[in-house]
Amino acid sequence: APAITFDRVNVAYGRGKTATHALVDFNLRVAPGETVALLGPSGSGKSTALKALAGFVRPTSGSVKLGTRDVTNLPPAQRGIGVVVQSYALFPHMRVSENVAFGLRAHRVPRSEIGPRVAEALDMVGMSAYGKRLPRELSGGQQQRIAIARALAIRPGVLLLDEPLAALDAQLRESMLGELARLRAALPDTAMLYVTHDQSEALALADRIAVMRNARLADIDTAEALWKRP
Ligand code: ADP
Ligand code: ADP
Repeated sequence: APAITFDRVNVAYGRGKTATHALVDFNLRVAPGETVALLGPSGSGKSTALKALAGFVRPTSGSVKLGTRDVTNLPPAQRGIGVVVQSYALFPHMRVSENVAFGLRAHRVPRSEIGPRVAEALDMVGMSAYGKRLPRELSGGQQQRIAIARALAIRPGVLLLDEPLAALDAQLRESMLGELARLRAALPDTAMLYVTHDQSEALALADRIAVMRNARLADIDTAEALWKRP
């Protein structure tokens, strides 16, 4: 089975004449270990697709599956998905290690396992030395690494990244892109959905690119194949 399946998903914000149809008959399958970039202009429905899979918005119709499991009606914390968003959303009053541990508690990981998991996740993003710091004592790039560690700590089968580099300056974006590529290689079994409006990020990271336009999937293929389209 695919790691991720969107089956004719529709999402609308609001009701009636003034509703925004953010996702219309959206179908997508992502294979285990595959990275698919959702590429498209602002407002095309990329984040909504990701939120529907994470459980932050509820489809008006259609279903989302992880493997063979229909998760359409499950709360977010029961989906076992790692999510990274553009504004790192770290808790400012919690130390780095507490920020990473927070998600583990929400996922009901046993207490004895939390310390080792936090250490493992910080190690994966090269931030082992920073566990005792507060978020404000870190640079933007370091904060984003912690947000990634927090997602990885739950050992998700599926990792969702929503414009994870958008808040960083150009130079930092470049080096973080390299780190994401390394991370991806280190997690060969993890399916990833990567939301971006940046073509170069999609090219650098994705096995396939899903092009979004006006709440619909306009095209999906490898970069080589898409570029050859008439
Ligand atoms: P993208 O991620 O491609 O920028 P979004 O999925 O964020 O697109 O948004 C798709 C459409 O849905 C846009 O028209 C946006 O304004 C609208 N939208 C997104 N979130 C909400 C919301 N919470 N309430 C109302 N409209 C929303
Ligand atoms: P993203 O960068 O993830 O697309 P945005 O910065 O567009 O998110 O929006 C931030 C928050 O506001 C999100 O929770 C989104 O659902 C919500 N939102 C986006 N567009 C609208 C809208 N037109 N009306 C109400 N809420 C919106």
